[in-house]
Amino acid sequence: MPELPEVENTRRFLVPVLEGSVIRDAEVRRQRMARRNLRPDDVPERLRGRRLERLGRHGKFLLGELERDLTLVVHLGMSGRLRVARAGEPEDPHTNVVLHVDGDTEVRFVDPRTFGFVAVLTPDERADSSLSALGPDALLDPPRPETLGARFAGRAAAVKALLLDQRILSGLGNIYADEVLHRARVNPTRPGGSLSPAELRALCEAIPAVLEDGIRHGGTSLDDLAYLLPDGRAGEYLGRLAAYGRTGLACPRCGTPIVRAVVAQRSTHWCPVCQPSAIGMGGAA
Ligand SMILES: [Zn+2]
Repeated sequence: MPELPEVENTRRFLVPVLEGSVIRDAEVRRQRMARRNLRPDDVPERLRGRRLERLGRHGKFLLGELERDLTLVVHLGMSGRLRVARAGEPEDPHTNVVLHVDGDTEVRFVDPRTFGFVAVLTPDERADSSLSALGPDALLDPPRPETLGARFAGRAAAVKALLLDQRILSGLGNIYADEVLHRARVNPTRPGGSLSPAELRALCEAIPAVLEDGIRHGGTSLDDLAYLLPDGRAGEYLGRLAAYGRTGLACPRCGTPIVRAVVAQRSTHWCPVCQPSAIGMGGAA
């Protein structure tokens, strides 16, 4: 599933294509992709002829500021990606939404599983949407140890689950949560409320560091190649992962085989030596 680094790489690629451009037309070929609008037809009707002024991002959401206070929202879901192409170039299978931009450029939303969506929202609709419940962006507004500690205080839930909770912090998914915890030497099963101040500091240092690393290497394209950059290239962070998906392989820090278990209903990977499970390692809060 695309996470913050994949969405940010997509955004950076699309900025020169979309910012300042007029969306001449838009096609929604699978109505499900427009399900966040009350009327699916609102998506093409509201986009047609409108200039996109700025392309931003919050967590895993791309946010395009359109003329007259509308917001274009794109979420890549489980398997979505955006592709920039010239009109007439062959389409990838599962091209479900197409934006026709100035000239003959197309921005194509490819999503086999259709868990992703595209929406065009008025300010009131945006305020009523799940966007307003998102926590601070993990990269643009990274947490401080005190604020993260306050959010985790008294929580018995695994720290992995809390890092995945987009209302606490927006942008981390399964891959980067495992990587952050490995870098910070925190065991993913630890109750959030049991983390020491030193561990909270380590987490807060690891979050932007891991995300910036992921962005620098184009994000993580897994073997299924569901995520690709908009020009079709694969992200190259897969070979740099320390924990995620590396069950039985050596921890790059200490050589111990990485272990895997299901935590918070998600496949979770960690080093049993660098990330010991005993509560109180480093001093409980
Ligand atoms: Zn290790």
